[in-house]
Amino acid sequence: MEKRRIAILGSTGSIGRQALDVIRQHRDLFEVELLTANNSADLLIEQAIEFDANAVVICNEDRYKEVADALQPHYIKVFAGMQSVCDLVTGDNIDIVLTSMVGFSGLASTVAAVKAGKAIALANKETLVAAGQIVMDLAAKHHARILPVDSEHSAIFQCLMGSAGADIEKIHLTASGGPFRTWSRDEIAKATRAEALNHPNWSMGSKITIDSATMMNKGLEIIEARWLFGTPGDKINVVIHPESIIHSMVEYADGSVIAQMGHPDMREAIQFAFSYPERLTLDNVKLNFAEIGKLSFFAPDLEKFPALSLAYESLEKGGNMACIMNAANEAAVAAFLQERIGFYDITDVVKECMDGADFAVNPSLDDIFETNETTLAKAEEIIRRISR
Ligand code: MG
Repeated sequence: MEKRRIAILGSTGSIGRQALDVIRQHRDLFEVELLTANNSADLLIEQAIEFDANAVVICNEDRYKEVADALQPHYIKVFAGMQSVCDLVTGDNIDIVLTSMVGFSGLASTVAAVKAGKAIALANKETLVAAGQIVMDLAAKHHARILPVDSEHSAIFQCLMGSAGADIEKIHLTASGGPFRTWSRDEIAKATRAEALNHPNWSMGSKITIDSATMMNKGLEIIEARWLFGTPGDKINVVIHPESIIHSMVEYADGSVIAQMGHPDMREAIQFAFSYPERLTLDNVKLNFAEIGKLSFFAPDLEKFPALSLAYESLEKGGNMACIMNAANEAAVAAFLQERIGFYDITDVVKECMDGADFAVNPSLDDIFETNETTLAKAEEIIRRISR
């Protein structure tokens, strides 16, 4: 394998740090060209020095001077602001762009990288939720390969390898069920921030961990799968699998089901996106089937987790509806993390925004940015009303 040069957008977050751990294990195969972070200046400086990055971007311009002062002696270029991220990802020195920023904020830089024909290791699912049609059309036009990093989608991608041209009968998207799987609806209604942040299987950032507790994460993943694999919503089935050993499955027309398995560890999906189509070694936990003994599966409870129905609904409506759902969810999750609203208020805010939405059937990229802005404002209004 020829050496691959990598940009990590959001290098100080959970996925970014795990990606650097993958690179640490294969320094001969991967080179860090660009690292970007929003605010975490100290960690960004440390990472840039360890991996001898060519350039870094600190999005918060107030932290620029401290990063520049620290990295000047190492001849590492330092830039500030989101626009710099969009400019630098297009550079000739970059082969793969890992999009591991949080939420809708990742859309502009992902679009820039796609237009430059870069291979995208996609960890930022909100990009496809908000603008799936637009991003996939651009990727086809600019020959940008999109390699999923989300564990479920990496699994589906792997289950499809060697089956080119075969029709997918169904995608079985597995879900751990999150921390509230066995709680009653009344108990969930009173769930605190700390309880929602306590995910049983996966180590992730706070936004996605709350999304896992509401199961909106699985809702976003249904939409992500629809765009990545061209599979309509009615062929995407969610199955609760608390052990998180099977990362997802593909069912073919003859009833044959291919599953991809592994110990839950995001580094496996990140590494495969970096090394595709090759497989490299990884110092992770290997499966011991006799020790695991059995795997269990359940249907999701749509009464306890209304986010799943909202996701199917937004997919059916199409247009900018999933963008509206995503923006409302981002605002509501932020409010829940600030302890301004309760747990079920999150999906109530999303539903109210979707019901009162300015619907557009065929939105442009500009329309998507506008939908995001207006929905955030509308969600904030609702949050203010219910948090009084
Ligand atoms: Mg996932």
